[in-house]
Amino acid sequence: MTAAYRFNPAFQSPQGSPIRELFKYTQQPGMISFAGGYPAPALFDTQGLAKSAATLLDGAAAACLQYGATEGAAQLAQVLKQVTRARIGGADPGELIVTTGSQQGFELLLRILLEPGDGVVIERPCYPAAIQALRLAHAELLEIPGDAQGMDTDALEALLLAGARPKLLYLVPSFANPTGATLPLARRRHLLTLAVRYQFIVIEDDPYGQLRFSGQAEPPLLQVAQEIEGARDWLVYLSSLSKIVAPGLRIGWMCGPPEILRRAVIAKQTGDLCTAPWMQMVAAQYLQAGHLAAHLPHIIATYRERCAIMLSSLRDAFGDRLSLIAPEGGMFIWASWKDGTDATALLQSAVRHNVMYVPGSAFYATQSDPGHWRLSFANAQPQEIIDGVARLKQAHEEWMHVQA
Ligand code: PMP
Repeated sequence: MTAAYRFNPAFQSPQGSPIRELFKYTQQPGMISFAGGYPAPALFDTQGLAKSAATLLDGAAAACLQYGATEGAAQLAQVLKQVTRARIGGADPGELIVTTGSQQGFELLLRILLEPGDGVVIERPCYPAAIQALRLAHAELLEIPGDAQGMDTDALEALLLAGARPKLLYLVPSFANPTGATLPLARRRHLLTLAVRYQFIVIEDDPYGQLRFSGQAEPPLLQVAQEIEGARDWLVYLSSLSKIVAPGLRIGWMCGPPEILRRAVIAKQTGDLCTAPWMQMVAAQYLQAGHLAAHLPHIIATYRERCAIMLSSLRDAFGDRLSLIAPEGGMFIWASWKDGTDATALLQSAVRHNVMYVPGSAFYATQSDPGHWRLSFANAQPQEIIDGVARLKQAHEEWMHVQA
C-alpha cells in the first residue's frame, strides 16, 4: 500500500530528465554512447587539480573546510571576474556570484523572477533541463524556432509585435545544446535591442563558449550589451567550469544587475547555504596557477578532431539521407533524417547494435518532427566514433528493412 502523500502538484507525477532515463543503456557491455553531454574524462586535468588541492591542504585547509559566504569565496569570485572580463574584450563584467553549477544559477533566477503562468521564451529545440525547470515553475513556454544560426530573432520580434510579453528569455548563444549552433552578431544585437524595447530579462547560458575549435569567435551577449543602451540592465550571464575543467567541481557563476544578484543570493541561502568552499578554493587555486589556460588548447584540439571524424563518418554512412549542423565548437552535432526515419524508433535498434544517441524529442517542449537527433563527439575516441557510426548504419539498414 502506498501512503497518500500530499505532494506539491508540480511533483504529483513529474517527468524525469529524458536524457538521464537513457543512462541505463550506457551500462550495457560494449556500448558506444554518443548520448550524454559529458566531457571526456581522459581530458580532466587531474594532475593540475591534484596540485591545486595539495597546495591548499598545505596552507589553507581549515579555511576551506569551514562554511563560506553564500555569494562565493572572494578569491574565486575575483578570478572568475578576470576570466569573464577576458571573454568580453576587457569590459567590466559587473557583479558576480558563484553558483553550484550554472544549473543552480538558472534555477535561482526562476525562483526569484517567475510566477505561475509567466511567459518565458526558449529556443526550439532547447536544453532539456531548462525545459524541465521551467515546467516545474509553471512557466508558459514560448518556443522560438532556431536554425543553423541559433534563435530566429525575426520570429521573436513577430511574437512580440503580436502582443506576447515574456518576462524572461533563455538561450545558449554559443555552441548550443542540442544544435551546436552559434548566434551571429547581428542576431545578438537584435535580441538585446528587443529585450530593452520590450523589457524582458535575457538569460545567456554560456557553458560551451570557450570550446571553439574553428571559425570566428562571436562576442558573448554580455559584451554586445556594452554597446546597446540599457541592455546591461536586461541581461544575466551564466557560465560554468563543468565543460572546461570538470563537472564534478560543481562550480558555476552568474553576472548581472545587482538587484537581481542580491535576490539570487537570498534564494541560494535556503538552497545550499554556500557552494562547497573546498571546491571553490581548489578551483580558485587551479585558475590562479594558470592550469586552465595551459590545458584548454588540448581539450579544444581533441574535440576538433573528434567532431571532424564524426561529421565525415556520418556523411560517408548516410549521405543525403541525413542533414547535419556542423558546429564550430562545443560538444554536439544535430542531425535530421531526410528519409522519413523516426529517430526515437531507430534508437531501439541502435541500442541492440550497442550504440546510443539522444532522440530529438527530448529537446522540445511541444511535439516535434521525429527525424531529429543529437550526437556528442566529446566522449568517444576516434576509433569508437568510426565504429559507432558503422553500427548506426547497420541499425538504420535493419530499421529500413523492417519498414519496407
Ligand atoms: N546549460 C547547458 C546548456 C548545459 O548543457 C549544461 C550541462 N549539460 C548546463 C547548463 C549545466 O551545467 P553545470 O554543470 O554548470 O550545472
